[in-house]
Amino acid sequence: MSSDQGHHPAPPSDLAARTLALESLLVEKGLLTHDAVDRVIDAFEHDIGPMRGARVVARAWVDPQFKRRLLTSARDAVREVGIEAAAVHELAVVENTPQVHNVIVCTLCSCYPWDVLGLPPAWYKSAPYRSRVVLEPRTVLAEMGLSVPPAVDVRVWDSSADMRYMVLPERPVGSEGMTEEELTALVTRDAMIGVARVASPAGVA
Ligand code: FE
Repeated sequence: MSSDQGHHPAPPSDLAARTLALESLLVEKGLLTHDAVDRVIDAFEHDIGPMRGARVVARAWVDPQFKRRLLTSARDAVREVGIEAAAVHELAVVENTPQVHNVIVCTLCSCYPWDVLGLPPAWYKSAPYRSRVVLEPRTVLAEMGLSVPPAVDVRVWDSSADMRYMVLPERPVGSEGMTEEELTALVTRDAMIGVARVASPAGVA
């Protein structure tokens, strides 16, 4: 597991220190390898985590009633798709529309809706992203490959220990006939952070 540099400026928290100590001990005893730990983290980042959020997004796209519940009471709504959101903080889902583009950050450290999106990508925890996305969101998004038209309002949501956000991206053109399961496969982690759009299905311009 990587160090907490660039996360909290303070020394590692008690939990982080204990986690590192435990990992070191298990590696020393030959019970675990750093590679194995990295693989688990990788799976959490790329498969387990974002897939949960993707299921929530796809349900919201096909079920307007669910979407309304999701936007007003996210934690109760995600429970309907089998996700038990952490009780230690609030969860809010913010909707992208043709008029509004939302993006999430934690300016203080790296708070992230891990219960729906898994572990945050490394860049989410980086100082440049955390500081710049608030000051010049359009520039940062453009650098990440997402051009937001001037007429679209960009809203940046600063997460905290008490409040986590997830973006409900726009349903892409060309996905009209797709099933909920097919839609789930289209949704990416970055789209739910708000630094990308959900691409149209293959074959659709
Ligand atoms: Fe944080």
